[in-house]
Amino acid sequence: IEMNLVPLHQDHRQWSGILIVMHDITAIRKLEKMRSDFAANVSHELKTPIAAVKGFSETLLSGALDDKETAKSFLKIIYDESDRLNRLISDILDLSKIESKAIPLDYSPIAMKEFVQKTVQMLEAQSNEKQIHISLNVNQDLYMEADEDRLRQVFINLLSNAINYTPEGGHIQISVAYLNLSEDVNDEKIRIEISDTGIGIPKKDLPRIFERFYRVDKARSRISGGTGLGLSIVKHIVDLHKGEIKVESDVGSGTTFIIDLPLVQ
Ligand code: ADP
Repeated sequence: IEMNLVPLHQDHRQWSGILIVMHDITAIRKLEKMRSDFAANVSHELKTPIAAVKGFSETLLSGALDDKETAKSFLKIIYDESDRLNRLISDILDLSKIESKAIPLDYSPIAMKEFVQKTVQMLEAQSNEKQIHISLNVNQDLYMEADEDRLRQVFINLLSNAINYTPEGGHIQISVAYLNLSEDVNDEKIRIEISDTGIGIPKKDLPRIFERFYRVDKARSRISGGTGLGLSIVKHIVDLHKGEIKVESDVGSGTTFIIDLPLVQ
């Protein structure tokens, strides 16, 4: 609490009292702390790949180049880590753009079936590689209003997670449907569900997975090339659309993300 004392004057010489103004600055402090935590996290996340690139190139320069096989595997690490740096930077920029609301949403009507089919196609290489089957359940004439690029980002982030955290031969199911909770036409919603038959998320981690850089298993996230920002970007986009996101999961059997969005904006 921040306190200010203001003297109250009756005339030039005499006080009639004192006004005490107290501000609850908890929220401001919290925001400041979140900002500095974020900066600390970002530098930590950036330092890890940079350290790998530096370390492995130093080793190459000081002789490892002569052994062709070693050199090749070190170069592969350097290449992958630069790739991760790239993804990190573009995710961080995306997140800060979305958070600062610098770019307003660009709403347009979206034909959902075509939209989902196209988005799934973009991830075909990844899902085919792991022989993961993706099935769709979207009505042909289902339309909704959203920012198409942002909505695509939501699908891509959730689907690439589903692919990354599902063992080979698994299954992903996407369904999009009207949600008839209300009589009011202006209150109509759309429900998007993305389920996988993957490793699942422990109950204790569920409340935290939308936090920036939060990962259940750091090592696994690194192997799959994750940045730890995918779900916080998803959550922000859903919030901007005035929607809601929920997650249900069972360790060892799979995860379902459920998103409810207004049908029209
Ligand atoms: P990452 O880049 O690490 O995947 P995200 O923000 O996308 O970061 O996800 C945060 C964490 O949530 C992941 O590290 C992972 O532990 C967990 N997670 C997200 N999606 C799934 C999923 N479909 N199945 C299992 N775990 C998941």
